[in-house]
Amino acid sequence: MKQQADRIHSGRLMATIEKSAEIGMLPNGGLCRLTLTDEDKEMRDLFFQWMNESGLEVRIDDLGNMYGRRGGKNNRLAPVLIGSHLDTQPKGGKFDGILGVLGALEVIRSLNDHGIETERPIEIVNFTNEEGARFEPSMLGSGVIAHVFNKQLMMNTKDQNGFTFGEELARIGYQGSIENRPKDIFCYLELHIEQGAILEDNHKTIGIVTGIQGMNWLEVSVNGKTSHTGTTPMHKRKDAVLHTAKLITKIYELAEKVPDLLIAVGRINASPNVINSIAGATVFSVDIRHPDDFVRERFTTMLKESLATMTFLEEMEISIKEINKEETEVFSEDILKITEEAAKKHGYSSLKMMSGAGHDAKYLNRLAPTGMIFIPSVNGVSHCEEEYSTSDDIDKGVQVLFDTVIRLANKKEW
Ligand SMILES: [Zn+2]
Repeated sequence: MKQQADRIHSGRLMATIEKSAEIGMLPNGGLCRLTLTDEDKEMRDLFFQWMNESGLEVRIDDLGNMYGRRGGKNNRLAPVLIGSHLDTQPKGGKFDGILGVLGALEVIRSLNDHGIETERPIEIVNFTNEEGARFEPSMLGSGVIAHVFNKQLMMNTKDQNGFTFGEELARIGYQGSIENRPKDIFCYLELHIEQGAILEDNHKTIGIVTGIQGMNWLEVSVNGKTSHTGTTPMHKRKDAVLHTAKLITKIYELAEKVPDLLIAVGRINASPNVINSIAGATVFSVDIRHPDDFVRERFTTMLKESLATMTFLEEMEISIKEINKEETEVFSEDILKITEEAAKKHGYSSLKMMSGAGHDAKYLNRLAPTGMIFIPSVNGVSHCEEEYSTSDDIDKGVQVLFDTVIRLANKKEW
C-alpha cells in the first residue's frame, strides 16, 4: 500500500509494537520486561538494530539511556528529543511507554520514506528504568540527567535479590559514556497512553497534556498500647487500629470537600499485627494530589493540624511526617498550541488535560520546553495485562506526534 505524503505508516507501526510485545510476553497478552533483565536487553538489542536500519546515529549514555540521532540541515542547532521507555511493570501492558518509543521510531521511518529534511536534528530516546518496578524510585534514567537524582545512588540501588543497578547495567552491556547524555535539548516531546479514563469518558481522541499534577506524601503514626485481647476491658484499651480507622474516615471526609483533590491511604501497618493482641501502634501513608500547588499545600497543612487535634485521640500519641513533596510541572504553552493545531488539521478531537501519573517528561521539563500527547486507554486501565489502546487511536496519536515534531524541528527559536 502506498503511503500518503504526509502520513505515517500505520501497519508498520502496529507490526513493530507487536514485535516488541513478543519480548517478555505473559499468558494473557501483557508484558513482564523489568529494567536491566535479559528481556530488557533483548528489546534494547532489537531497538538498537531498528535505529541502525533507519540510518540513525546510535549512542548510549552512562545510565543506559539509548539515543538515535537523525541529522538536520543545521547540525549545530539543538535537537528535538522524542521518546519514552521500553521497560514495563511485572504484569504490565504492551503500550505503556513502548508506544512513545516505537511511535518516535515510526516518526523517523516516515520522515525517511517521504524524504523530509528538518532544520534541527531529531533524536529519539529510550529512558532506563522509568517504571521503578525493579529498582526504586521510578524515572531514574531521566531523573539523573535532569539532576533530580544522584548518579551514585542510582548505581547502588538494589533490587529485591540484592543485585545493584550498576552491576546489572554492565551485565547486559548497556553502560555507555557520560559524554553521550544530551547536552543541549531544544524541546522534549512524549507520546503516551493516558492510563486513565478522562479521554474515553469525554469521547476525545488526543489528550493535550498541560502538565503533571503535584503530590504530597504524609506518614502518620498512631501510638496506643499493646495488650491482651481476652483480658483487657474495652474501656481500658488504647487500640491504635480503632483510632486509625476513625482518623482515616475523617481524612476522606475532609478531602471530599475540596474539588479535584485525590487522596488515598494506600499502606497501613499495624503492630504487632497478631490476632490476639490489641494493636499498640499503626503507621499509614496518605497520598494527596491536586494540580494546583496552592490548593494542595493548603489542604495538607490543614490536614496535619486537624489530625493532630482530633478529640477522640486524647489518649493516643500521634505524629505526622511529610515524607515527599513534588510540585506540579507545567508544560510549554508553545508546544501545547502546536500539538493542538496538529490534531485539528487532521480533524481529531482533542482535550487539554493534566497528567495524573508521572512520566519521564516530568523531569525533562526541567531541562527544556516539554510537551506530552495522550491517547485513550480502553476502560482507563494500565499497569495490568488488560491495558489496551485501539490501533485507530494509536495511528492518530503517532500522526499528531509526526506533525508536531516536524513543526518543532523547523522552528528557529521560541
Ligand atoms: Zn509509562
